[in-house]
Amino acid sequence: MIGIGVDAGGTFIKLLAATESGETIELKQIPTLSQDGPKAFTEKICAVVKDWQKQFKGEKLAVGIGVAGDTDPQKGVIRYSPNLSKWRNVAVSGPITEATGLHCVLENDANMAAWGAYDYELKRKYPNVLAVTMGTGVGGGLVINGVLYHGATGCAGEIGHVNVVPQGELCHCGDRGCIEAYAGHYAIVRRAEQALMRAPEKSILKKLTANTQISGELLAQAADEGDPIALEIWRETGSYLGRGLADICLVLNPDAIVLTGGVSMAHKHFMPAIVEAFSLRQITTPFKHVKVVAAHTSNLGSIGAALLALESAKTSK
Ligand SMILES: [Zn+2]
Repeated sequence: MIGIGVDAGGTFIKLLAATESGETIELKQIPTLSQDGPKAFTEKICAVVKDWQKQFKGEKLAVGIGVAGDTDPQKGVIRYSPNLSKWRNVAVSGPITEATGLHCVLENDANMAAWGAYDYELKRKYPNVLAVTMGTGVGGGLVINGVLYHGATGCAGEIGHVNVVPQGELCHCGDRGCIEAYAGHYAIVRRAEQALMRAPEKSILKKLTANTQISGELLAQAADEGDPIALEIWRETGSYLGRGLADICLVLNPDAIVLTGGVSMAHKHFMPAIVEAFSLRQITTPFKHVKVVAAHTSNLGSIGAALLALESAKTSK
């Protein structure tokens, strides 16, 4: 069997075909252009899927689609996606199954990353896994007892908007003090810009950003070179994230927390602060047990989507 994993972002739709062990055998990226509407969106995905149906003739295929936002996995409907032109109540799985004849699942993109973390990154070694997606925003997905956990309405695992600072920094969701308002890429850049105004001219950050805008990547580079401002921003990021994750560990007692997404690439600069936040808790057992790791795979979302499609196709027979 071959799984087709689709990671539908605001700018690009990334598609891959993977074997049952998660080995990527085909990759494709197409512009999303969500302003063209949902019909054009599903048709574009179907065109690639149909090409791969021809290419892998004789193989059984299934499709998994991850999108940012509020999804109804049971009905295969996007309830609301801020990244896809604020679409509301858009059916995705149905039209794709109709056009291709293939089994299709739709999930929030962080849920797909959680399945990728459990099934591919950790090879099903741990039954209880929390995945944290660290990009522009912060998302989360949960696998509990080896099953993707949806909660009552499909929204479980939205850890980015757990409050860590009452009346704290403004978050993209409109609330204040969320984990994302400290650990999302935009929030890290916001703190870096404020710090840059106060930074002495000799700071590496000033030089690195002389002709370009500050980014997480530049901030990681400055931290690599020992810049005290950059190191402090990463430490703060880990501290806020660690505070929120510690609360979640007390509720869920996971075996592993897998950090993924672009910001997680700077993990060596913020992981010690997460470990420190955990060590400050008086209840120790869940924190001694849990493994916090950064994913080795950069596209856990689309690999997870491919593997979840296969899992779902098998169990829905
Ligand atoms: Zn928020």
